[in-house]
Amino acid sequence: MGVKENLAEIKNEIDSISKKCGRLDKVKLVAVSKFHPASAVLEAARAGQILFGENRVQEASRKFDEVSKQFPDAQLHIIGQLQRNKVKEAVRIATCIESVDRIELLDEIEKRCAKIEKKIKILFEYHTGEESKSGFESEEEIRASLKNFADGKYPHIKPSGFMTMAPFTEDESAIRASFKKLRALRDSLQGEFPRFDLRELSMGMSGDFKIAIEEGSTMVRIGTAIFGAREIK
Ligand SMILES: *Cc1c(COP(=O)(O)O)cnc(C)c1O
Repeated sequence: MGVKENLAEIKNEIDSISKKCGRLDKVKLVAVSKFHPASAVLEAARAGQILFGENRVQEASRKFDEVSKQFPDAQLHIIGQLQRNKVKEAVRIATCIESVDRIELLDEIEKRCAKIEKKIKILFEYHTGEESKSGFESEEEIRASLKNFADGKYPHIKPSGFMTMAPFTEDESAIRASFKKLRALRDSLQGEFPRFDLRELSMGMSGDFKIAIEEGSTMVRIGTAIFGAREIK
């Protein structure tokens, strides 16, 4: 099957799971195109997909300069660990950085966005599973960042919610527990900071997006099920 057919099938699945859980909101689909060429992204864009995810800035940059010539509405989320020296380029090409995993990164994002007068969305990546290693380890640190937001420290950044990666395991209960943890974090911090709209829960990948939607995901990040297997480099 091609990208177009895969996309249609995934969207159907997302809709039917959402319906089954009685969800009225729309779950967003981030098509993760890392390791796949611009031609694959263009194929998805022609099939109506506008939201993409990449985890390496340089790779994304090359690809999306080409894609946005043909599809100016295409949007890019950065979903991989971001080094400080890549932030300048990341904020140029992305509309959201989903993988903010330390406070230092926010200072750099603010500085770079201020320079180009751009407002960008971010998600706090939270470490919820035993095996994955990325993300904030402590809720306290995220709370401290949100206090900085409340104090007006980051006028060019819109905190929009949370992201996580579940552990890579066959154990469904461990995956579910990881997603529940992110949702609980969101609910508690949203309660503490009502002035921000922190509703986004970016959770769920090709192998576990059904569970994620059942647990309240608002945004699933799907690569393999749309573009096929990636070549391991
Ligand atoms: C690669 C990647 C995905 C997509 O994974 P698939 O299993 O191919 O759907 C999602 N999120 C992050 C952070 C990734 O790095």
